[in-house]
Amino acid sequence: MSVPSVSSDDGHRKKDQRMHRHIPRSLTLAATALALIGISASPPITAQAPAALATPEQFFGFRIGSDNKLARWDKIVEYMRQASVASDRVRFRELGKTKNGNPFIVLEMSAPETLKNLDRYKQLERKLYFQDSTPTEADRNEIFRQGKLVLLVTCSIHATEIGASQMSVELVHRLATDNSPEVRKILDNVIFLLIPSLNPDGQIMVTDWFNKNLGTLFENSPLPYLYHPYVGHDNNRDMYMFTQKESQLTAKLLWSDWFPAVWLDEHQMGSNGARIFVMPATDPINPNVHPLIYRWNGILGQSQAAALEAAGKEGIIYNSTYTNFWQGAMAWSGWWHNQIGLLTEVASARVAAPIEQQRAVPGRGTGAGDGGRGERGRGPETGRDAEGVTEGGRGGEGGRGAGRGAFTGNGPLPAPTDITSRTEYPRPWMGGRWTLRDIVDYELIATMALLDAAADRREALMRQIYEVNRATVEQGKTSEPAAIVIPVQSQQDPHEAVHLAELLQMAGVEVYRASAEFEADGTKYAAGTFVVPMTQVFARYAKDILEKQTYPEVRRGPNAPPEPPYDVTAWSLGMLLGVEHRLIKKPLAETARLEKLTKVPRLDGRVTGNGPRFVFDYRGADAAKAINALMQQGARVTIDSTREAAKVGVSNVSRKQVEEVATTHGLEVRSEAANGSAASMRVRAPRIGIYQPWTGGNMDEGWTRWVLEQYGFQSTAIHNDDLRAGNLKERFDAIVLPDQNPQQIVNGSTGTTIRPEYRGGIGEEGIAALKKFVDAGGTLIALGAACGFAIENFPVPVRDLKRGTTRDQHFAPGTILNIEVDTAHPIGYGMAGRTYGFYNNSPFFTLVEGFASQRTTVIARYPNTNVVASGWLKGEELMAGRAAVVSVEMNPGRIVLFGLRPQHRAQTHATFPMLFNALYLSTSEARGAS
Ligand SMILES: [Zn+2]
Repeated sequence: MSVPSVSSDDGHRKKDQRMHRHIPRSLTLAATALALIGISASPPITAQAPAALATPEQFFGFRIGSDNKLARWDKIVEYMRQASVASDRVRFRELGKTKNGNPFIVLEMSAPETLKNLDRYKQLERKLYFQDSTPTEADRNEIFRQGKLVLLVTCSIHATEIGASQMSVELVHRLATDNSPEVRKILDNVIFLLIPSLNPDGQIMVTDWFNKNLGTLFENSPLPYLYHPYVGHDNNRDMYMFTQKESQLTAKLLWSDWFPAVWLDEHQMGSNGARIFVMPATDPINPNVHPLIYRWNGILGQSQAAALEAAGKEGIIYNSTYTNFWQGAMAWSGWWHNQIGLLTEVASARVAAPIEQQRAVPGRGTGAGDGGRGERGRGPETGRDAEGVTEGGRGGEGGRGAGRGAFTGNGPLPAPTDITSRTEYPRPWMGGRWTLRDIVDYELIATMALLDAAADRREALMRQIYEVNRATVEQGKTSEPAAIVIPVQSQQDPHEAVHLAELLQMAGVEVYRASAEFEADGTKYAAGTFVVPMTQVFARYAKDILEKQTYPEVRRGPNAPPEPPYDVTAWSLGMLLGVEHRLIKKPLAETARLEKLTKVPRLDGRVTGNGPRFVFDYRGADAAKAINALMQQGARVTIDSTREAAKVGVSNVSRKQVEEVATTHGLEVRSEAANGSAASMRVRAPRIGIYQPWTGGNMDEGWTRWVLEQYGFQSTAIHNDDLRAGNLKERFDAIVLPDQNPQQIVNGSTGTTIRPEYRGGIGEEGIAALKKFVDAGGTLIALGAACGFAIENFPVPVRDLKRGTTRDQHFAPGTILNIEVDTAHPIGYGMAGRTYGFYNNSPFFTLVEGFASQRTTVIARYPNTNVVASGWLKGEELMAGRAAVVSVEMNPGRIVLFGLRPQHRAQTHATFPMLFNALYLSTSEARGAS
């Protein structure tokens, strides 16, 4: 049966509903028997009986996983719908639409009796996760005896890692039709939630691209653009900022709707080494995760490994590559929510094309501690997540096709080198043929094994998850911090405090608002302050996401270099947003009046005073939304600034128009007599070009595009041809070069396997065109590694001090740093004088000799002491007092170098204004002309 979308508020509405009836656990098979015979010639017995579910092979016309064959997302959705019609074990829900308007779906699978009473079971699961109230003893007994183990599997967030989305149709067919005791046991004990693709838009892009090139010279040609409309591989870096629709829909399912206790996210890795990674992952661990979560990572991951070994599969590895510390990725994010987040990574084929690999000769391996664990995450044989998250996590170098890093040619891959048997890798992969069907088989076994283990251990899992939840809430009563308070009006930008509260809510955290002034740890806080008590089930998450991160450096030997973490080492959300908050030690007084937020908080806006000119404070990134909205309506906008405060002046619009913008954006606007300062900067809507390289796309480009869209800027993507064609100043005021290696900008990717139209970079012609652009008064904005391009090709008096350092001298794979900002410079307008910036192995600068006609200004610098605010950085002293953001007036053009990452993954709200201001400044030829 097809069931319409269920609102996630269901649980709240029905919270008073009591449970009286005992639901029989046995599966009633008679009703479903008709639907279970998958083969074609079984006609319905009655007119009402649903048609039998076709096998995937019948439906798709090929066996899933066949060489060079892919099921496309629209057909997968259609098959899932049919499964829900044909089987009373399957429900189909569309959770929403993706960015490109494709259905984002979840299947709910269980015994028919369970599905008939699904709301009741959802209530039990909510109780298990301490939603709405603390469970009583009677509740507990009911949960443990009658509750089902709620288990989520998510597939193929990285669209080239396409195997799991294919596997999902065979999995659903099996669960819908198989009457074996194993499947019945699973259905009786488990409520299985399946998201067949976390990235349907990308699934379609990758499938179409594969089919387009199949049978041509360009079969191995990588997708030329990102496999997500904005963020490519970084879609798995979004589970605390929730910028993308797909992340938001998933968060809602996880932390407002179903609260699954177990969650497996299925990925693929490189092609050369192990065939599958299963949990547990590797050191370091995160101190805010309950140990039981890591224990169950081991138990359930090893259940998968055992089933694979029993099936005779080779190359199963654990305790490798993927570290246990990091926030931001999909299944990992469950850990701080007391959910058992699990990962599998299967070796990649070339999307759907098979790979041949030379066989290793036994005894010729490089040996454990060398090719194996010694080089964790660095050698090609352990192979990171297929897209090659490179050292330092550079946006510009990720986002490539699956296995591409390891395999671009047509000959066989070299033999695997990690062939030494050991505890975590007892039966190494020795090479041979590897196909999409192999991936599907490994994933089917691993997924069924997880379901089987969860069904077997249902009650133990629920009791122990309950214990983790109980202990978390109890700990909040006795340990520090007792609460986290987030003041609002005293912030540099109160809007950011509101965003922070909203992000916590999206992650399921209960946020309260003080309705009166209160005291905590001896300090008074105003009414309106947000309070996050630690006596809540997701307190671990709130603490981890808000406190300063301390990354434990890992070295495998006394002389070994420090190992790179899997991704960034800092995510302190307050710092990223520029919001000050306090970790409160003592429990708040009983007298504190707190109201739980039940919807997204917002600031009120209004216009006061009387006059033709309107003024509001420029205190942070959100001001740009109002500025851009007003300019679109023809407003004349200026920005005035002193070191203390920046103000936006608006004229040439009606009061009604301003009132509307004030209400929409929560702005306090004063209207006054017309007397703008002579020193104000006139702002016009900038014409922005963002360089969009081919060959895998560039995630930083996608993030930049996304950020600019959100804040109301219009931008145009420019490709190599556009740049080479020149006349850029006629089209653009500002050109943004996203974070990318200078060599890549100039040369792009070459090679005969790449489609000719996507080969190469901007070349010498592009460099010349950019020089002309700056000579004609254009503003060139270089982000991250692209600063190197500007330094190499323009006479800017700046040296990159990061260049040439070794990892032992300087290493910062994603760190939040203290910065000092020149708020009197137009690029520093609206910023706090001291705030936080995100840094990831990008350049930092010193100024050198320049021409007299140039003016070079340091917009932001690192402090002379205490550079690191959160996360891991080696070589802090090298950065002390150095420049982070530099503006060079080239007369008449301008080059702005962002060594720190002002819009990194759309997370760094504190530094967005510097990017926005550089864009605004590009339209302002004569500063001071009011
Ligand atoms: Zn992946």
